[in-house]
Amino acid sequence: MRIIVTLLASLGIITSAAAKQRVVLISVDGLMGTLVEKGYTPNIKAVAEKGNYTFQANSVLPPKTIPAHASMLTGLKPQDHKMINNSYNGKSKIAVKTIFDFLKAKNPRLITAAVVGKLKLANILSKNGSVDHSSTPIKEDKYNPKKWGSILMRMANYRPYQEVIKDATLTIKSHDPDFLFVHFADVDWMGHWYGGWDKYHQYIYGLFVDHAIGQIVSLLEQKDPKMLETTIIITADHGGHGSDHGVEGLHGGKINTSRPELLNYGMFHPEDYLIPLVAYGPGYVGGTKIKSQKFLTDIPAMIAKQFGFTW
Ligand SMILES: [Zn+2]
Ligand SMILES: [Zn+2]
Repeated sequence: MRIIVTLLASLGIITSAAAKQRVVLISVDGLMGTLVEKGYTPNIKAVAEKGNYTFQANSVLPPKTIPAHASMLTGLKPQDHKMINNSYNGKSKIAVKTIFDFLKAKNPRLITAAVVGKLKLANILSKNGSVDHSSTPIKEDKYNPKKWGSILMRMANYRPYQEVIKDATLTIKSHDPDFLFVHFADVDWMGHWYGGWDKYHQYIYGLFVDHAIGQIVSLLEQKDPKMLETTIIITADHGGHGSDHGVEGLHGGKINTSRPELLNYGMFHPEDYLIPLVAYGPGYVGGTKIKSQKFLTDIPAMIAKQFGFTW
């Protein structure tokens, strides 16, 4: 009987009680690996010290929000997932399999959810209805000064961490998703508009976002004090230099969609690429530094593994 149960569970046909797993993937948009390493995000660092970590994981070419998050959620390089255009148009939906599609195909009973700080990520989330509960910025909110966050941030269809953390905790409490993706926009936003990367404003907002992440971690630890069925993965889509990333100068540069690898030709900035990757949960304990090279494209396989699936 046990063999049959194990077999059915491994095929995703049933989920045995012992196989209950929960994975929360947190992306801090624009967070350089060095910011965590230097101690500007104490909660993320504390999770790293309990789990496995590297502060030198690799983003993708181009190191921009949509291409990089598409790689994080599909395991494919930008030239293969084709989500290279970095602006939201509401039409260019992702055409390849995401981790959400994968988990729902393996076990339709798994509950998936996403809470994001940038509307443009809806390009990646919206395929096939494989995200059960999603929360994105609402366009109509953008000029409402009574809401938290700057008007400029609203005009770019971003929303601040205060709203993301509110929705993320609500989602955990009311839906208890098996897989939850949480995205914070603020650190990237501060880099572009207020002072640049690895500068004062970013440290401050890094702390705010880090505090919000601390709230998510303690909520998950309350649900699962021994962290036997919960995995937290914290990473970023890219870092940055000056006041931008992936291009030279503020918001400049054109992406050659057929040859994205040419974008940074002659102006490679390692600060754009080196990101944190922290994993804490079953199989990821002890404060161990990951010695091998890690890439954003490794993340779907890491998530699948925690559910007992092979990506
Ligand atoms: Zn980004
Ligand atoms: Zn950016």
